[in-house]
Amino acid sequence: MGTSGNLSAVVQREPLRLAMSPSGVDKGELMPDQMLTIDENARIVNQDFGKPSDESLLHVRIVQKRGAGAVLHTHSVWNNVLSDLYASEGGVTISGYEMLKGLQGVRTHEHSEWLPIIDNSQDMPALADSIEKTLDEHPGAHGFLLRRHGLYSWGETLAQAKRHIEIFEFLLETMGRALHIRGI
Ligand SMILES: [Zn+2]
Repeated sequence: MGTSGNLSAVVQREPLRLAMSPSGVDKGELMPDQMLTIDENARIVNQDFGKPSDESLLHVRIVQKRGAGAVLHTHSVWNNVLSDLYASEGGVTISGYEMLKGLQGVRTHEHSEWLPIIDNSQDMPALADSIEKTLDEHPGAHGFLLRRHGLYSWGETLAQAKRHIEIFEFLLETMGRALHIRGI
């Protein structure tokens, strides 16, 4: 919604180069020539104008920690609601849903996916460090939530990252709606 969310894909590993969405652009109307190329410090390297998404440093850190080929980030009603509802538990467990099998390496609906929740911050270097710590603590996680902010997921390819983010959004909405119907 609005200009929220951001997208990146690795174009080169050594030295690291990411294609990164610009700041303040409606992602539904993003054109290929608006994508920026950034380095491991989130600095633009392909031109001397433009501004990458504020959260570029977070994308870089996820790529470095997970070896991801693409990182996607969404702000949605349900990822905001559940990131707040389960914040005191440090994350939310998702299990028993067939859709879990769309996450890389998951073979059965009986899988238990722990989606960590990290406190939001406007201090991007500090937030990147919190994310790194969380990724180290949960090596099997396919994504994480930033509290009252949004969802991050990634994949070996852009297609896999898109699949992961869509599956998480589906699962979070399903859980949120179920809680609502039950009146919890
Ligand atoms: Zn965001």
